[in-house]
Amino acid sequence: MKERAVETAKEAEMSEAKHGFIPELDHPTFRLAVAQYDRATAALKLDDNLRERLRTPQRSLVVSMPIRMDDQSVKVFMGYRVQHDSARGPSKGGIRYFPDVNLGNVAALAMLMTWKCALTGLPFGGAKGGVRVDPNTLSRSELERLTRRYASEIFPFLGPDKDIPAPDIGTNAQIMAWIMDTYSQQVGFAVPGVVTGKPLSVGGSLGREEATGRGVANITQEAMKSCDLDLHGASVVVQGFGNVGMATARILHEAGAQIIAISDMNGGVFNPRGLSVPELISAYQKQDRSFQRLGMGDMITNEELLTLKTTVLIPAAVSEQITGENADHLQCRLVIEGANGPTTMEADEILEDKGVLVVPDILANSGGVIVSYFEWVQDVQRFFWNQNDINNRLHEIITAAFYRTLASAKEQKTSMRMAALMNGIEEVAQAHLARGLYP
Ligand code: NAD
Repeated sequence: MKERAVETAKEAEMSEAKHGFIPELDHPTFRLAVAQYDRATAALKLDDNLRERLRTPQRSLVVSMPIRMDDQSVKVFMGYRVQHDSARGPSKGGIRYFPDVNLGNVAALAMLMTWKCALTGLPFGGAKGGVRVDPNTLSRSELERLTRRYASEIFPFLGPDKDIPAPDIGTNAQIMAWIMDTYSQQVGFAVPGVVTGKPLSVGGSLGREEATGRGVANITQEAMKSCDLDLHGASVVVQGFGNVGMATARILHEAGAQIIAISDMNGGVFNPRGLSVPELISAYQKQDRSFQRLGMGDMITNEELLTLKTTVLIPAAVSEQITGENADHLQCRLVIEGANGPTTMEADEILEDKGVLVVPDILANSGGVIVSYFEWVQDVQRFFWNQNDINNRLHEIITAAFYRTLASAKEQKTSMRMAALMNGIEEVAQAHLARGLYP
């Protein structure tokens, strides 16, 4: 296993030496995205010129934003928006407010969005944005000023036919509403389709808030079926208790799974008999989003949580959580990636050797962008759907993508991650070949 890990690291180094990186993009998450891409495109035997083109993002914008704080001081924040590819349609991807945001990790996530949209058949390219900030340190008015300044700085990039942001770590429906308002003020009329994940009152979609979690739950159910396992009574561990983790845990609990542990950035709570998720959510929200003093189970660290004995492990927090260091200690049958990039390439190899089925991020968490697509369609058509339409269409699209990927993985004798990447990249390559090279 160790040799495999060394081989993977060498592979990443070799691809870097061969192609080089634009220095601004050189970040471990970008290296990981590119190393995965190189491996998938080698297997696809993609045309060399096209392969080179898709390794780097189409457009990257870096902005610095002076913001007046409540104490009247001025603080400068860095923001980013990267559009990886727009051959198949407007680019789509979340905005993240997080302290470690930089051009490299935003570019990596933008690339993943391109493959995710193509894999699920959505008519979008991939993008991602972010501001380097811990939003918990800002007051509501500071957060609004920062958001509006960021939206005006990236305004030339945005538009319902150009680039459509959505929520991600540290952002939410309110922040999307401020972006929609700032954009609409600049053009002089309301443009709901410029962002998704908005409140219902300004053109949001039913079901968008819980869409990523609902998709993760749908995928968990299908992945278990494909392994002849029953979700009812099966143990599930969820890392992350934000938008994705909370909805995933709630929906799987409703479907009869036993959620035995959940965590946030400060650690988690473990109860081998299963947690009552609705009670946990309401107590957690009342207790200032803390598991301490809830008395609903034993307190555990995130490291302990990842290695608990369970049927399903769902990382739904941040990237690079399952690594070459801890992968061998995991005791689960399936890993369903709610988060983006939670598993390193070294860990992937180890889990494959252990016979753990890993359903990759670009498939497992695609419910968010699928319902974002529904929201955009509804905004553009000014015609809104009911909750059943949303849930049924989400289930139909995500389940079909799951079985397509599973069939390709079996046919190509490869992992689900490689199969998903290959299918996504192939779709994008076809669009480029059809459009040709301009000029
Ligand atoms: P969020 O900000 O709502 O929640 C993040 C959660 O992760 C919080 O509970 C936080 O405490 C926890 N966390 C942060 N750092 C941690 C750490 N080091 N260890 C353990 N927990 C930690 O974010 P979200 O929207 O739920 O996004 C979670 C993941 O899902 C991200 O990787 C994001 O890119 C991905 N994702 C989100 C969406 C979406 O629609 N929101 C869609 C697709 C993918």
